[in-house]
Amino acid sequence: MTLALCRTVGEFRQACDQARRRGPLGLVPTMGALHEGHLALVHEARKRAKTVAVSIFVNPTQFGPAEDLESYPRDLEGDLQKCREVGVDVVFAPAPQEMYPVGERTRVRVTSLTEVLCGRARPVHFEGVTTIVSKLFAVAGPCVAVFGRKDYQQLKVIERMARDLLLPVEVVGHAIVREHDGLALSSRNAYLSADERRRALAIARGLAASTALFELGERVVAALAQPVVQSLASVQLEVDYISLAEPETLVVYEPHDSVGERALLAVAAIAGSTRLIDNVVLGEDPAPSVRPTE
Ligand code: AMP
Repeated sequence: MTLALCRTVGEFRQACDQARRRGPLGLVPTMGALHEGHLALVHEARKRAKTVAVSIFVNPTQFGPAEDLESYPRDLEGDLQKCREVGVDVVFAPAPQEMYPVGERTRVRVTSLTEVLCGRARPVHFEGVTTIVSKLFAVAGPCVAVFGRKDYQQLKVIERMARDLLLPVEVVGHAIVREHDGLALSSRNAYLSADERRRALAIARGLAASTALFELGERVVAALAQPVVQSLASVQLEVDYISLAEPETLVVYEPHDSVGERALLAVAAIAGSTRLIDNVVLGEDPAPSVRPTE
């Protein structure tokens, strides 16, 4: 099947309705500038669905006023080419006014899960995410929607939203895809200078060391966080947070607490002006495999 490009809500709704007559529909929401991480989500969707749709929309409402909405990388032609190469059936690339009709006044907000971790530094971010994802779900209709665990908090927030709003969508998480040296793939990695790119690897290196400690039996929060703290300090990366949290409720542990058999270790750091996030679920994910860059 050749790739169908939908530019309007009406076209995409019709394409999804038609697709569902042939079998299950898979949806991969993205902001474009596609990389191997996004394409892994497409492959995951393909395993579960007959038709795979990718949305490409740089969603203005999830960016704060001082954030990178204007400079966010955009490359629709390149993205369409990648989508063709991996056999995506439908791409939905709407203009902002399609998703936010004139006079719009509605926001979707998930409480508590959005108030920790990234929600502290990015107070409007998750409301923007849940608003746009609920709109995408409303247009696509019943489907399997695949999200990356790179944005672990986002995945949990969307799972909660889909359950709470009784949406006919199965939300599936996919493992983080990393560069050959261990850095988690991100569209924002394109902003990094060579020096920032080298220093950014300290995040995955710290997470790997913490995972090793956990596997040796360490359960105290401060001790588990320490390798990440040290690793980031060694390359002078600015820390937003290094937190351990319960992986489903995202309740953040205190330094003297002990974690259970699974714990989210999540990091946000700033390299130059680029905000980078990464995580592992201790007790579940393998340690990121980190190799020095040549
Ligand atoms: P974005 O375009 O950055 O909004 O991301 C779209 C989707 O791709 C989200 O579900 C992300 O979690 C996912 N994603 C981005 N980077 C990665 C990665 N390195 N590994 C796995 N999923 C990713």
